Amino acid sequence: MTGAISDNLFRCPSCGNNLSLSGEVWNCTTCQAEYPKRATLWDFTPRDVAGISLLEREHYTDKIDYYLEMHQTWQGSPFYRHYHGRFLDHLRTLEPGSLILELGCGLGHDGLELLRSGYRVVETDIAPGQICEARELHQSEGFTGDCEHLLADAQNLPFADGQFDGAMMVAMLHHLPDPLAALREVKRVLKPGGMLVLGTEPNTWQHAFLFPAGKRMLHAAYRLMGREADPGEMVSAADKETEGFSAYDLEYLFIRAGLETWRLEPAGFISAAAFFVAMEFSEHFGWGVKLFGLERAGIVIDEWLEKKGRLARYPWHWNAVAISP
Ligand SMILES: [Zn+2]
Repeated sequence: MTGAISDNLFRCPSCGNNLSLSGEVWNCTTCQAEYPKRATLWDFTPRDVAGISLLEREHYTDKIDYYLEMHQTWQGSPFYRHYHGRFLDHLRTLEPGSLILELGCGLGHDGLELLRSGYRVVETDIAPGQICEARELHQSEGFTGDCEHLLADAQNLPFADGQFDGAMMVAMLHHLPDPLAALREVKRVLKPGGMLVLGTEPNTWQHAFLFPAGKRMLHAAYRLMGREADPGEMVSAADKETEGFSAYDLEYLFIRAGLETWRLEPAGFISAAAFFVAMEFSEHFGWGVKLFGLERAGIVIDEWLEKKGRLARYPWHWNAVAISP
């Protein structure tokens, strides 16, 4: 195998033992599991994927056109660019050529930024619809040898211990039934001193207060417009279930996974509000609503709010950096 990875990168995600490649199938010599290609990608997801994980896989594959359209609206958003730039900059402190694993890569836009910065990238997702788009995006930009795209479950990674210099999860941890299992897997596959970056994970208060209130306001708006019900029930099963993460939650998860918290950064107050109002209007009343001016002004206010002690505990999202000791 050429490119970002070598053959001895892999191990059986079920039993943890060695795999051997025969033709187009990776075979586990211990538990006899087989991992063939699916949609021309190696598929290392468990055969019995069920529950929330299965619903997420189906949602993010079936609704791919919706997410592509959504990303068109996000692109160029000052809020999006500012806070993605910030967490990507942490990874950019790694040596050029470092091997970075992205879990739940989605459409692959953050992975593309790492490729452009000269890193080798292994992209994984549980949804074939998303990772096929990511691969197409990276190939269309000329990145063929420096990245690999695999189907994998973040809670049972198909990689040998200590392989990666960095790992990235963007708005991904809250989609998992067992976030701790995924963080322990990340710890296992990182080299000593390796860096995990979490991007834009939701805080708890928005799930407790803001989303229910926002939903009621949206329903009221629909009634005022004489429209029946909310047609845009596009939130994934995990997004409905999650309660988000407080700063304490993230720090405690890192400790239990054996990772050391290095940075926990607020990601958006006013700018996030403007971004999400624009997103909601776009989704429900026609794509393309932009509040970029408000987002830009919001970022200036946000940078001031970040320094305000207790207030800094209540951003919309977190960016976080942890180190594997
Ligand atoms: Zn096995």
